[in-house]
Amino acid sequence: LEFWDKEYVWHPFTQMRDYQQSKPLIIEKGQGSYLFDIEGNKYLDGYASLWVNVHGHNVPELNDALINQVNKLSHSTLLGSANVPSILLAKKLAEITPGDLCKVFYSDTGSASVEIALKIAYQYWKNIDPIKYKNRNTFISLDDAYHGDTIGSVSVGGMDLYHRIFKPLLFKRVSLPTPYVYRMTEFDRTEDVRDFCLQRLENLLQEKSDEIAGIIIEPLVQGAAGIITHPQDFLKGVELLCRKYNVLLICDEVAVGFGRTGTMFACEQEGVIPDILCCGKGITGGYMPLAATITSKKIFDAFLGEKNEHKTFYHGHTYTGNQLSCSVALRNIQLIEETKLLEKVQVNALFVHEQLKALHRLSIVGDIRQRGLMVGIEIVKDKKTKAVFSLEENKLDNIVQTARKKGLIIRQLDQVLTFIPILAMDQDDLRKAIDIIYQSISENM
Ligand code: PMP
Repeated sequence: LEFWDKEYVWHPFTQMRDYQQSKPLIIEKGQGSYLFDIEGNKYLDGYASLWVNVHGHNVPELNDALINQVNKLSHSTLLGSANVPSILLAKKLAEITPGDLCKVFYSDTGSASVEIALKIAYQYWKNIDPIKYKNRNTFISLDDAYHGDTIGSVSVGGMDLYHRIFKPLLFKRVSLPTPYVYRMTEFDRTEDVRDFCLQRLENLLQEKSDEIAGIIIEPLVQGAAGIITHPQDFLKGVELLCRKYNVLLICDEVAVGFGRTGTMFACEQEGVIPDILCCGKGITGGYMPLAATITSKKIFDAFLGEKNEHKTFYHGHTYTGNQLSCSVALRNIQLIEETKLLEKVQVNALFVHEQLKALHRLSIVGDIRQRGLMVGIEIVKDKKTKAVFSLEENKLDNIVQTARKKGLIIRQLDQVLTFIPILAMDQDDLRKAIDIIYQSISENM
């Protein structure tokens, strides 16, 4: 298997030469908060299988939902026909999303949900007044943003590494400074970082709101950028400016949606209601690929027209609204409610916060950031200067590998270790995971 993996599988985001030399971790099964590899080794799933897993692995209720649906029908198309699970799920999503978000456009990856949001936002302005809004062709996003890897979602990304080579293919984006409090050392207070970034946004909108189709932002915390937690009321400030200058607000809840930060959607915590909300990852509890772009009725209505008006949104994938994915997603959301999981996440987030305090004693731990059950530990060479280790030093990779040997899977994002446990992980396992993180860092200092 190891040989065939190297021979035949093109892994995403992998430095191929490094990967070719390393022993692959081949996962075979899962149970609760644990994963097992083909050699029978057991690991705590401290990355929730790439931030998707909600109730654990091999959950009877989710298995049943899937099996019941398989026994009825696996797939029929949403193009020109409907199906029961996608209707029931859309109704549920409309009920649990904030404000008047009520129209659900299905896709199958977070990147696609963002791509769709951008296309909808762009076309929205053209549909309501093609002359007046003809220049609204640009999106605003944060410096360190990651919104996916299709051409549209890369266009609004801020990570140079991902879009450098594709630059000629990308559309227009204006970037805003990320409120990265730990690294913006010129400011004394968190609020000053927030106000500076909001002021930059206001200046931008004053200057060119005529060119802006929308702003896309991850609410409260930027995950893939290194768990960069935003100052309180930053998102609220962005929303107020969107309303003042009449541009659309797109919240990318792909990583933070479905309870990750302790509420069903992160934007709820600041009372923010976006025009368009993107979600994916945790929507099926980690079982099946599914994503959704959810809009207000106002947005949807702008796409209604007579045949010759060409207001239709020409976008749709073969597996859009797949019955298996929708069935398991609906059961996942019901289970979040039945098990009062959001309250548990809030309690366990406080528990994790307490447990993490010990890590500050370690000389290479520069910053610990947390929102709900999303943790980023920034590793530095020197706490004072905040200098980071070079890639060649392999510092974070070594920590991740040590943790793996001790039975915990975590991930590194540049200079940040990320601990994103399964949402339903219990306190014993959370404590165990944090102990392993502590030991793994101290053994690699
Ligand atoms: N947006 C955000 C905020 C994400 O974190 C991710 C994935 N890490 C995506 C979009 C893209 O989702 P996917 O990988 O499912 O395409």
